[in-house]
Amino acid sequence: MGIGEVVLPPLYERPPRPLAMARWLATTFLWWQNGLWIVVGAAAWLWLTPPLDRFASPAAWAVVLVYLRNVVLMVVIVGGLHWWLYVRRSQGTQHKYDERWLSVGRRPFLFRNQTRDNVFWSLASACAVAALYESSMLWLYANDLLPTVPVRGSLGTLAYAAALTLAMFPLVSVHFYANHRLLHTPRLYRWAHSLHHRNVNIGPWSGVSMHPLEHLLYLSAPLMFLLIPANPYLVTLTLTYLLLSPAPSHSGFDRYLVAGGRTVAGGDRFHTLHHRYFDCNYGTTLVPMDKWFGTWHDGSDEARAAFTDRRRRLAARNAGRRRADRSARQT
Ligand SMILES: [Zn+2]
Ligand SMILES: [Zn+2]
Repeated sequence: MGIGEVVLPPLYERPPRPLAMARWLATTFLWWQNGLWIVVGAAAWLWLTPPLDRFASPAAWAVVLVYLRNVVLMVVIVGGLHWWLYVRRSQGTQHKYDERWLSVGRRPFLFRNQTRDNVFWSLASACAVAALYESSMLWLYANDLLPTVPVRGSLGTLAYAAALTLAMFPLVSVHFYANHRLLHTPRLYRWAHSLHHRNVNIGPWSGVSMHPLEHLLYLSAPLMFLLIPANPYLVTLTLTYLLLSPAPSHSGFDRYLVAGGRTVAGGDRFHTLHHRYFDCNYGTTLVPMDKWFGTWHDGSDEARAAFTDRRRRLAARNAGRRRADRSARQT
């Protein structure tokens, strides 16, 4: 199947349709992926992270434990999805955007194997950079250097934590658009982001298969809690979300077959188009900054034609510039 067309959430319709928005929130936004990331993030904070006071003085073992927790979460969730779709091939190529399977024996990938390359960058770099950010933020919280809003303080603080949990998603979207746009500047693209774009045909492990410099930018989103009063739980939630949510979005399958022939939402058409066409869709549909800044590609034939046309014009302009430079040098 092709990638199909991108649908904008009803949040941006004018006049507003509150009922459609509420239905979208419950049935699309929270169910099932974001709901799962909230549950995993809360569980990771409650049961899989050393207690906050252990971060009060810098301790390598606490960082190592957070790193190992990240590795285990990725192996179970990202590895599980990869195994289900690409090793067991449980649904064949049904709902798959690209008929081809992942690359084996091709040079741009480490070990000449796309999956091994992607697993390497995810476990060796993403999990480590995330553990360093998390431990540093938890050190600040443990030393009372950041204002903490207790989750279980009162009904008000509980409501605040719940609102901030939901607000994390659009805030991370804006951060993602900004750092992704930056990574597409020629120098940063060459040094760092090209590693992620080796993956044109993508799989679950491609999600955070990035250069360490890109990890430093991409995983820096929880630094927003230096400014926004929050709770250390939100740091763990944000980082586990950043590590895990790209797995389904890069899975290469639009929908997953579940029991009884039913399907649930799978890959992210919008970001899959970014991997295919490269100079569009830098952000997400949740906060459609691409629409506001003119790089929105919804997968339609018209959008494809407009992008081809834009590329042709850019190539002609660059060729003209090069010719002018050459003749200026010769005179
Ligand atoms: Zn990119
Ligand atoms: Zn990507």
